[in-house]
Amino acid sequence: MKHTWAMAIDLDRCTGCGACVVACNAENNIPTIGETEAGKNRLMHWIRVNRYWEGEFPEAQAVYLPMPCMQCERAPCELVCPVYATYHNEDGLNAMVYNRCIGTRYCANNCPYSVRVFNWYDYKWEKPLDEQLSPDLTVRSRGVMEKCTFCIQRIRRAKETAAEEGREIRDGDVVPACAQTCPPGALLFGDLADPHSEITRKLKDPRRFRLMEHLGTEPRVVYLKRQKGAGR
Ligand code: SF4
Repeated sequence: MKHTWAMAIDLDRCTGCGACVVACNAENNIPTIGETEAGKNRLMHWIRVNRYWEGEFPEAQAVYLPMPCMQCERAPCELVCPVYATYHNEDGLNAMVYNRCIGTRYCANNCPYSVRVFNWYDYKWEKPLDEQLSPDLTVRSRGVMEKCTFCIQRIRRAKETAAEEGREIRDGDVVPACAQTCPPGALLFGDLADPHSEITRKLKDPRRFRLMEHLGTEPRVVYLKRQKGAGR
């Protein structure tokens, strides 16, 4: 069965706690770079939480917008990679082949959402943090671009389990680390190819919108507008 993986982000629920960022770091072997490198804008996070302010002091309110890779159907990053290191996989996701990447960073420059990050170093994990590295995916080397994969290792595992049990993947079998961790349940992941999935139902909400829709990138990450206030 062909899948159309997508993520819905309910801005009414996001409280900006950052748990999704921490969970993503732990799941995907993302290094902590420290203050100096962060000051040079060399952050390695695969998901960030943008903060904006609405209104004027003293009524000003913070508004949060989690930003993973948008997994664009028509991805501008793929068009400019000279070595096809970034490509559309069989599920329509925007995937990376790390050992093909030669580090031109053209893809990052062409991403309108600024969600691709570059390995400036061979990062080290101090003991005992090296013992929590996940064996399900590689640690990327210096000179290689990386980004959110919708936790592709979890998608693979769910497919393998379903195949072993002789069935199709069920709704809820795949939950990326960020969605699994989000305390108020702001992130929902699922298959739009399944007409009965929760995400298919959720995305009928009239609050739905996609970032920079006018660019025609057709993101697979869909937001639900704020209406009631954070943490609703
Ligand atoms: S974990 Fe959930 S509530 Fe916290 S910042 Fe991420 S999306 Fe928002």
